Amino acid sequence: MSFDELEGLGLETLAIRAGHARTHEQEHGEPIFPTSSFVYESAAEAARKFKGEEPGNVYSRFTNPTVRNFEKRLAAMEGGERCVATSSGMAAILSTVLALLEAGDEVIVSRSVFGSTIALFDKYLSKFGIQPRYVELNDIAGWEAAMSSKTKLLFAETPSNPLNELVDIAALAELAHRHGALLAIDNCFLTPALQRPLELGADLVIHSATKYIDGQGRAIGGAVVGRDQELEQLFGVVRTCGPCMSPFNAWVFLKGLETLSLRMNAHSRNALGLAQWLEAQPAVERVYYSGLESHPQHALAQRQQRGFGAVMGVEIKGGQPAAWQVIDSTRVMSITGNLGDVKTTITHPGTTTHGRLSDEQRASAGIRDGLIRLAVGLESLEDLKADLARGLDSL
Ligand SMILES: *Cc1c(COP(=O)(O)O)cnc(C)c1O
Repeated sequence: MSFDELEGLGLETLAIRAGHARTHEQEHGEPIFPTSSFVYESAAEAARKFKGEEPGNVYSRFTNPTVRNFEKRLAAMEGGERCVATSSGMAAILSTVLALLEAGDEVIVSRSVFGSTIALFDKYLSKFGIQPRYVELNDIAGWEAAMSSKTKLLFAETPSNPLNELVDIAALAELAHRHGALLAIDNCFLTPALQRPLELGADLVIHSATKYIDGQGRAIGGAVVGRDQELEQLFGVVRTCGPCMSPFNAWVFLKGLETLSLRMNAHSRNALGLAQWLEAQPAVERVYYSGLESHPQHALAQRQQRGFGAVMGVEIKGGQPAAWQVIDSTRVMSITGNLGDVKTTITHPGTTTHGRLSDEQRASAGIRDGLIRLAVGLESLEDLKADLARGLDSL
């Protein structure tokens, strides 16, 4: 379907119909184009395509039809003008910064972002004179206090992992724009099925497609969605520096998008059911999940999200030994730090994802010794409860 025909269609329709330009073979399913390069009818046509005078494919580091199909579909679902796909979620973040920032610029980042995101800023981008400053995700005054005339980008991940803190995206966008900066939201945990940051005023949406867009743990990929203006710069980085998406992976993600809404709603339903049940267990100190009425930002979650997602923090009474006992008593869940899968995963952040932090850093991040993180999958809710009850009841 052409872009104009997509106007006004619902998210579920876009997820299934957007982006596929049928070839002369009249295929029904989206084709994979496993080719590194493309051929021309004549030397003159090749010259025009190389110069960019005529649209068309040249080389799959620049464009590839399957990758373009994925980009168009995700752009339509996020409500963006354009999408650029990348080889991973980290490549999406790196390409954004390479495209839009230069030496001397500052970027403000919420402290609770994905660990590799912090390492990317601290260890690598700082070498090139791009300075990160860290703030508390939900403290808008703190974001404002950290801004200077050098601030070019605000980068936030909402909800946070694993404590489900949120930032008011519309308020943060207003702040960024008042200071002439851009706002990028890492929308990995909710996806466009449950949260559309561009509609709330954000300028860029960042994805690790590895997570819920694939949804079944098969492929690594990423994407950035936004306006033509910034995305054209991003495209320049990806086609020149090379962190492009493989056509095979793009096809896997295309198929993932078709069922994204269905899955995200089912993840949310299972997670809410489990969170409510966990909150009533005597061995549980506290559950961090934005779908619970006990969550301090529940009203904001209801306002800016269409669902609450799969990820939650659960604090077990009795510290690390108790948390480990609950984890080790599971039979159904996978003990792994990964998430974004139909398979439920369980992990102890204090000794894994946040294990390299000092005790003080961990305490200030709210990662207590008894905390476990669940990324709730699509197994039967009753089986997941029983899997956790085994450990909880033994404490
Ligand atoms: C996994 C993840 C990333 C990085 O994505 P990769 O595909 O692993 O490179 C970035 N942000 C968030 C929130 C993630 O969970």
